[in-house]
Amino acid sequence: LVEMIDVQKWYGELHVLADINLTVDQGEVVVVIGPSGSGKSTLCRTINRLETIDAGEIRVDGAPLPAEGKALARHRADVGMVFQSFNLFAHKTILENVTLGPVKVRRHSKADAEARAHELLDRVGVGEQATKYPAQLSGGQQQRVAIARALAMEPKVMLFDEPTSALDPEMISEVLEVMVDLAGRGMTMIVVTHEMGFARTAANRVAFMADGRIVETASPEEFFTNPQSDRAKDFLGKIL
Ligand code: ATP
Ligand code: MG
Repeated sequence: LVEMIDVQKWYGELHVLADINLTVDQGEVVVVIGPSGSGKSTLCRTINRLETIDAGEIRVDGAPLPAEGKALARHRADVGMVFQSFNLFAHKTILENVTLGPVKVRRHSKADAEARAHELLDRVGVGEQATKYPAQLSGGQQQRVAIARALAMEPKVMLFDEPTSALDPEMISEVLEVMVDLAGRGMTMIVVTHEMGFARTAANRVAFMADGRIVETASPEEFFTNPQSDRAKDFLGKIL
């Protein structure tokens, strides 16, 4: 479903994405881990064209990424993204946050979008909060709204870039539970996270990045018990 083929990206002298080859199949959950600065966020951002690439190719559902305009807006709806900071619209209610995209980009009626939004907000456990504003919610609740907002666009794939790292410890599990549930429903997911518990339970594959490269990919079982590269061994030694 997502194909990255020989992708290269430079920031000036810095080869931030080097020879990236990654294919994520329909329904697959790939966890991307690696040290700070290794290019994990940049990799995610190239998939919905928040960043351009200098060489290589990225395809989602067989199609190359559109460069601009309405096609790009639709592409970004197809590729849901959840960031570390929740990025909700502060001056819109929770319900409006979740209905805006489907009405504008997907051309759903307001009534349909609202019905679907209530369903999704219930599913992620914040159904009671629909009329509130983001600032009135906890971090964990806001992040679950951000997930519902992305899902409301009926994405083909969901990207998560450290979705729990800005949260207080007691709120991490409620967000991870939503993500595990989503994985169980067959959503295709690329997840940058340091939550090794999530990687072990939900990932089909782990991709380990260092210095802009995917150094190794393996099943979580293989990766955690028998990492191949010295970089991965060193990294796991520090975090586990
Ligand atoms: P972290 O775990 O800290 O989030 P990361 O693996 O997500 O790190 P990236 O944010 O992708 O890493 O950054 C990779 C490298 O690219 C870093 O060295 C970073 O400083 C650099 N970088 C990121 N964005 C830019 C930019 N807009 N201009 C120049 N350099 C950048
Ligand atoms: Mg990052």
